[in-house]
Amino acid sequence: MSVEKQIWVWADYRNYFQSRVTLQILARASVLAEKTNATVCAVVFGDQVDAYVKEYIAHGAQKVYVTDDPFLKTYNVASYAFLLTALVRRFAPETLLIGATRFGQEIAPRVAKQLETGLTADCIDLDIDENGQLVQKAPSFGGNLVAKIITPDTRPQMATIRPGTFQELPHDDEAKGEVIPVPLPDTMPSPRVRCLKSELHPARARKIETADIVITGGRGMGSKGKFRKLFDLADLLHAEVGATRPVVYADWVSSEALVGQAGKHIRPKVLFSFGVSGAIQHTAALADARFIVAVNKNPNATMMKLADVAMVADANQVCSGIIRALKQRIRD
Ligand SMILES: Cc1cc2nc3c(=O)[nH]c(=O)nc-3n(C[C@H](O)[C@H](O)[C@H](O)COP(=O)(O)OP(=O)(O)OC[C@H]3O[C@@H](n4cnc5c(N)ncnc54)[C@H](O)[C@@H]3O)c2cc1C
Repeated sequence: MSVEKQIWVWADYRNYFQSRVTLQILARASVLAEKTNATVCAVVFGDQVDAYVKEYIAHGAQKVYVTDDPFLKTYNVASYAFLLTALVRRFAPETLLIGATRFGQEIAPRVAKQLETGLTADCIDLDIDENGQLVQKAPSFGGNLVAKIITPDTRPQMATIRPGTFQELPHDDEAKGEVIPVPLPDTMPSPRVRCLKSELHPARARKIETADIVITGGRGMGSKGKFRKLFDLADLLHAEVGATRPVVYADWVSSEALVGQAGKHIRPKVLFSFGVSGAIQHTAALADARFIVAVNKNPNATMMKLADVAMVADANQVCSGIIRALKQRIRD
């Protein structure tokens, strides 16, 4: 009797509908499953999670393992990691994929450690090699290389994947999936941390990962005050603002705006890049940008070479000039 191969996707549904990462990973898992003749499974923990179970089936999950219990109402990394480890030991999936959200980043290493298996963090692509193994592609050596990592000796093959890396499948109301309820194990440890209060962070109406127009700014913008002009331009263009790491570290903008290996992957129709050098850690997240306009005073900057339109100029002056011209056009 052949054992069914399974690809598991851990369901991170907090901040749904803002964060679509689980749906995005399910879409990629469907492609990988086709290549390996595997079954795509979602694993959902929580209290009254029926709606999510249906949502995952509509987005490609052929099976959903569900532990639905009031004990799991509040996310607790120790309990969730314990439960996920227990389920993996019991059902032995070939692969376990987790979104590289804050939750995913804390649960995945704990589970990998308990299972004594490998984990590739922050993957920017996943594929299958000629031996049917999961190829986990992740920026490495400071982002100068994209490493292809396999897990030849242990199972499951584990990876976290950045939000925005893959595109979710369309919602299919007709899709059918098997739901497998799994009760909470008796051995569940009591939580050592108690959540006293939680508040939802207000969702932004627009998101950089899905925006059609993105304006990114780098250190070449010069100062926090000058960087703020990019937001004025973004308002005029109905765009979102992204940033490089030095800009985030200098606190010119919040880490939500970080674009690159350690931040968001973007896929705009048009990208305006102001004062950005184009380090691989940043540009790794721009591969899906369709048309790039770069402004940099250095014509040899990598970002200028990647651009469809490269302007050798002062970023701040160009930004102010476009704002003036657009405002003038609105007035006329
Ligand atoms: C492990 C690791 C992960 C990282 N992850 C990320 C990440 O996710 N995202 C990210 O962005 N970076 C990341 N980095 C940092 C990355 O290597 C670069 O240092 C960073 O992207 C450079 O940012 P920058 O282009 O703003 O700054 P700089 O490299 O300093 O470039 C500034 C650019 O502005 C130009 N300039 C200067 N003045 C002007 C002006 N007046 N007008 C026009 N142009 C001007 C310069 O010619 C230059 O090209 C990471 C690094 C490591 C080691």
